[in-house]
Amino acid sequence: MRYELHDDRILTWSLESHVTTHCNLRCVQCCPLSPHLPTWAVVPSALGEDLRRLARVLRPNVFKLTGGEPFLHPDLPAVLDTVRASGISEQVSVTTNGFLAQSAPDAVYERLDRMTLSVYSSAPLPERSIQRITERCEQHGVYLTVKRVDTFQQLTPDTPHTEDSAVRDVYARCWLKVRCHLIHAGHFYVCTRPPHVATVLGAKHPEMPALAEVDGVPLDAPDLLERMLTYLERDTPLATCRYCLGASGAWLPHAQLPRPRA
Ligand code: SF4
Ligand code: SF4
Repeated sequence: MRYELHDDRILTWSLESHVTTHCNLRCVQCCPLSPHLPTWAVVPSALGEDLRRLARVLRPNVFKLTGGEPFLHPDLPAVLDTVRASGISEQVSVTTNGFLAQSAPDAVYERLDRMTLSVYSSAPLPERSIQRITERCEQHGVYLTVKRVDTFQQLTPDTPHTEDSAVRDVYARCWLKVRCHLIHAGHFYVCTRPPHVATVLGAKHPEMPALAEVDGVPLDAPDLLERMLTYLERDTPLATCRYCLGASGAWLPHAQLPRPRA
């Protein structure tokens, strides 16, 4: 993959921030592993500092607030103001399962350009809620995309890949490395997996390197543009790919994990 530059900024498809890691659903094979992560919400000032650095060298077509469930963040308007102030992208979007979006304050809708509403067959959002969200998006000029999802793709393999050739193949076939760029805790990642795979699976695989460090680009080091280009255009897999199926996993019916007992 080769990237174009405009005004010394790399043009990319999108960039996302997991503004929360927890969620009110428990989807099996959740890409950011939300059901297995502790409760966490991004601090707007910390995200703003990271975005100011990255905005000097990167221009994604759209910036997405994702999670977890973004509407669980205690101050989503402040996060949105931080994103706007950074100038990282002209389009700001939120991706949600919708259960809290219908009753969110106007201050959120006023600050959005786009919303992607994921409606899962294993936890369907009532049609009246979809209608209410549609009306609120129309009122505030937010472009709404409703995605109905009844399957999921297995992302975490039952056991790590043992052959280097399998890791290379998974990486080569993976589209997430182009479409799912992540800014998280002072780093840029080519996909959403490295920080969370390390948190969730690290204890089970003691041989696992510190994926959040080895697979990301720290934003506070010099020569960021050169390091970003080298990282984005690499042909070699991430260390995380050994613990991931990328776009190569089997498709299965969508499902929810059971709720843990209180
Ligand atoms: S709604 Fe999204 S973030 Fe929440 S568990 Fe499902 S896939 Fe993960
Ligand atoms: S860890 Fe590798 S295979 Fe998995 S999503 Fe990221 S780039 Fe793709």
